[in-house]
Amino acid sequence: MKPLAINVVSDEEAEKAAFVICVRWTVPAVFADDEQGTCCACGAAVRFRPHAPKKPPRICMECIVEKLERSQ
Ligand SMILES: [Zn+2]
Repeated sequence: MKPLAINVVSDEEAEKAAFVICVRWTVPAVFADDEQGTCCACGAAVRFRPHAPKKPPRICMECIVEKLERSQ
C-alpha cells in the first residue's frame, strides 16, 4: 500500500475535497462537540469535528479503506 500523503490546505481548498473522512458514531467520542453525519457509501452514522469542511461528502473509515484498497 502506498503511504498516504497529507496536504495542508486552506479552508476554501478543503471545501473542494473529495471526502471528509469520519469515524463511525459507534466509536467513543473524544470531543463533546463532535457533529453527526452520514457516510455517503454505507449510510452509517459518523462523527466529525465542527470545523470539518461542510460541502464534501462524509465517508467512514471502513469505506475509505475499502475504496483505497480497491484502487491499488
Ligand atoms: Zn461507510
